[in-house]
Amino acid sequence: MRKKNNFEVIIIGGGIAGTTAALYLEKQGIKDVVILEKAKFPRLKPCTGLITSAAYKLLLELNIDPIKDLNYLSSHKNKGIKIFYKEKLKKEMHPQAELFVLEEAVRYNFDDYLRKKTIERGISFQEKIKINNIDFEEKLISTSKTTYKYKYLIFADGINGYSAKYADIKEKNICLEAVFKTEDKNEKPFYYLYFGETEQGYAWFGRTLQHCTIGFSDKYNSKIDYPAKLVAFAKKRGYEIDQKIVRGAFTPIAIAKNLTLHDQAMLIGDAAGITNALTIEGIYGAIFSAKQAANAIKQDDITLYIKGIDPLIREQKTAQKLLKRFFKPIFQFLMWEVYDRIFPHHITEGYDKIILEKKYSMDQAFKQAIKKFNPFRKKK
Ligand SMILES: Cc1cc2nc3c(=O)[nH]c(=O)nc-3n(C[C@H](O)[C@H](O)[C@H](O)COP(=O)(O)OP(=O)(O)OC[C@H]3O[C@@H](n4cnc5c(N)ncnc54)[C@H](O)[C@@H]3O)c2cc1C
Repeated sequence: MRKKNNFEVIIIGGGIAGTTAALYLEKQGIKDVVILEKAKFPRLKPCTGLITSAAYKLLLELNIDPIKDLNYLSSHKNKGIKIFYKEKLKKEMHPQAELFVLEEAVRYNFDDYLRKKTIERGISFQEKIKINNIDFEEKLISTSKTTYKYKYLIFADGINGYSAKYADIKEKNICLEAVFKTEDKNEKPFYYLYFGETEQGYAWFGRTLQHCTIGFSDKYNSKIDYPAKLVAFAKKRGYEIDQKIVRGAFTPIAIAKNLTLHDQAMLIGDAAGITNALTIEGIYGAIFSAKQAANAIKQDDITLYIKGIDPLIREQKTAQKLLKRFFKPIFQFLMWEVYDRIFPHHITEGYDKIILEKKYSMDQAFKQAIKKFNPFRKKK
């Protein structure tokens, strides 16, 4: 039998953005969908696997419950999240909202779990496909296997995929991590954040029930030996790690130049550059943008995609501006030594409502904080 190669929607890339786009389309009744993925799954994807409650809620909308199905997610609700600045403990936060972490702290199994969900729901997931050319006029994709025809195209191929030439994202951070099993069964899960370790980002050290995850994000400088830097950071935490287990990737810290192409294609997830520049949270943005792309296709109007992801675009622009200042000593001093002493609950509340639950935007929150903090403001 000849394989079908004409689809209403073709999705390039089968990571979180690609699979959830297919699942949102399926939810809307659009099943004539194929995912074209270059790798063979399960494939390795450097990512700590922290899932905020807002992202988890989106997964539930799709009837995807990794906690129930995978049975090994630990949550950091009410557990101490400690923040250090230059090795000094600045704050211990006890979030009320949940921060889930994949037990293995990697996306190897999680992305494969999503791949299986798409197949279960009747979506074709084709692996080891190399895209050779896309003819936007004829709506044809020629690949290493065959030529496909489509009506709509979704690029969910990450930061270095085929769509990178259209996205043209110049601003990127380097993000490194190492995940290893720990024998120590007495330790409880924790998550520590370290500011002041890198110039334009933060470092982390956390553990789930049996694994440790350690890593950092920073501005890329080709002269720095980042893996050696991570090994040294782990040593300071009391762990000797082999440089071979260090993995890294770039994360976008700016929105793509083009989010739609020729009224028929949309860039989503990392391909669109919506991983939050400050927090490096990308899972939420991947699913949220997937939802907006599916909605635009359902309505047969690509312009709805840009409208739909507007909150993400605005958030990324704020994060990008903040990134240049947030990790500087003066900002850190004002935040921990001044602001946090006057308003001790605000930062934890902000972490819950802005980062984990996404009830407010960063922009709104910072404007409010500055207003409160301003000694010259007129009291009502
Ligand atoms: C070290 C590190 C830690 C992170 N930790 C977190 C975290 O804890 N929480 C969080 O929310 N975010 C985290 N992020 C960010 C998060 O991993 C990404 O934002 C997220 O994976 C983006 O999903 P995506 O589906 O857009 O892209 P990806 O996950 O990169 O998926 C893209 C897919 O496209 C495929 N592909 C690429 N090119 C082609 C092509 N030409 N043809 C076909 N297929 C192609 C790839 O093989 C891949 O399967 C982290 C990132 C890094 C680097």
